[in-house]
Amino acid sequence: MSKYDIVIIGSGLGGLESAYILSKEGYKVLVLEKNRQLGGSLQIFVRDKAIFDTGIHYLGGLDEGQNLNQSFKYFNIMDKLHLQKMDMDGFDRISFDGDEKEYKHAQGYDNFVEQLAKDFPKERENLKLYAQRIQEVCDYFPLYQLKEDDAPIIGTKYLDINAKDFIASITSDVRLQNVLAGSNPLYAGDGSKTPLYVHALVVNTYIESSYKCIDGGAQIEKHLTKNIKALGGEIRNYCEVTKIVEKDGLITHVELSTGEIIEGKNFISNIHPATTMHMLESTKIKKAYSNRLQGLQNSVSAFIIDIVLKPNTFKYINHNHYHFRRNDVWSSVDVAGDQWPDGYCVFVPKSSRSGEYADSMTILSYMKYDEVKKWEDTFATIPKHNESRGQEYEDFKIERAERVIDEVVKKFPDLRSKIKSYTTSTPLTYRDYIGAKDGGLYGIAKDYRDPLKTFISPTTKIPNLFFTGQNLNMHGVLGVTVGAIRTCGVFVGQNYLIQKINQA
Ligand SMILES: Cc1cc2nc3c(=O)[nH]c(=O)nc-3n(C[C@H](O)[C@H](O)[C@H](O)COP(=O)(O)OP(=O)(O)OC[C@H]3O[C@@H](n4cnc5c(N)ncnc54)[C@H](O)[C@@H]3O)c2cc1C
Repeated sequence: MSKYDIVIIGSGLGGLESAYILSKEGYKVLVLEKNRQLGGSLQIFVRDKAIFDTGIHYLGGLDEGQNLNQSFKYFNIMDKLHLQKMDMDGFDRISFDGDEKEYKHAQGYDNFVEQLAKDFPKERENLKLYAQRIQEVCDYFPLYQLKEDDAPIIGTKYLDINAKDFIASITSDVRLQNVLAGSNPLYAGDGSKTPLYVHALVVNTYIESSYKCIDGGAQIEKHLTKNIKALGGEIRNYCEVTKIVEKDGLITHVELSTGEIIEGKNFISNIHPATTMHMLESTKIKKAYSNRLQGLQNSVSAFIIDIVLKPNTFKYINHNHYHFRRNDVWSSVDVAGDQWPDGYCVFVPKSSRSGEYADSMTILSYMKYDEVKKWEDTFATIPKHNESRGQEYEDFKIERAERVIDEVVKKFPDLRSKIKSYTTSTPLTYRDYIGAKDGGLYGIAKDYRDPLKTFISPTTKIPNLFFTGQNLNMHGVLGVTVGAIRTCGVFVGQNYLIQKINQA
């Protein structure tokens, strides 16, 4: 008889949160992580003493009484986090080539309307309507408000409305339409696909409140890990699952790359459903189900430049920049080749060492997987398979980094002289470190034209195999947390769990 009630594959946020919830409810839990560092996209890395985040640049909903704050109280990490509140009057700033203005997204709905009304005075009423409609949409997703929810998602209004069309229905001012959607790299917004609910749930959380993690987001993983262990849960790194094996309709064990076999009563996959299906040895799962999961399209990937700044040269900024070369924020995801990059995001991490000046800067531009496909047979997952992808790949990265920096210096003219060093990552980096299929930033891309196809259930065709993580409901810290509630709700009851979280 296995000693584990629950074996979780992957220590991303969803895996760790599920481990915490189920350990707290008395289950014997084991988390298996392929990397040395735990946390998936919560991981940080250090270059020249500067700390860089890999997948957490800022968090929303952390003010007292807000959804993530309450959830983090339940996980017993809220009072331990080292946070910096971002600019109230402009945590995100949207700009365009040929326009000097920086359009500000402000915290608090009234303030959000007020700040944008300064740039669009005739649009005040439309801005109020936008704010009201975004909150209405969020009300249709009770789990995001930590409210009990018995209705199936299928009945939910707003699943099949296109975000771009919705914004165009609010205002005919095309600049304002693009400003309202200007932080859409947060969800890889695609004008032909992205549903309104994705836009609404993401912008709502940051308008409620926006925070940076001082010295990076790995603190979330560190505190969660400590708490899981204190509850008796086990976590093992360097444990890459290569096979998930079914016998007589149930998963009996997983096999690691070392050949070690780990048995369990239930298995939760915190990794991409397509990758999970690929590892599954089962006669029970129908080909149609597996093909559906494997055929789902992923969100676009990114090219990222992590810059170490020379000391005392670049004043710290407490907001993010989203810049677009064209007045069309919804088609940036499609731009490749000579036209690339169509825009970029700038994130300036907050470190406990720096005061007036910043240590580092991260620049992100979308990048399609096809741009790096020719190197896809090379793998770099420290420390196991760290092979060089070759000189041509290194040259490609430098050429692309220089192109992006050429764009960014138009906004920050002295930037080049302030750069001490930089490193880059491509879609292949994300594929190898996180196991993200095609390096997709946020997992499976949601599509308003067939919304239910892109919703993944926490349960599978095998009764003791479950999913959690960003592919379930939504990506992002809040989306993944809601996903963990759905997954663990299958074991302990969703409404019971919501009550526990609200009582924390
Ligand atoms: C560039 C970028 C920026 C982002 N910025 C933000 C932000 O500012 N705010 C925000 O809220 N969200 C942000 N996100 C999204 C957020 O980071 C993710 O949605 C979230 O962290 C994903 O959590 P997850 O549970 O799905 O696990 P993941 O992070 O996907 O982790 C999965 C884990 O499984 C492990 N694994 C994979 N295969 C195996 C295997 N075979 N065996 C064992 N382990 C395995 C991986 O190593 C990894 O540790 C960003 C994401 C990216 C990529």
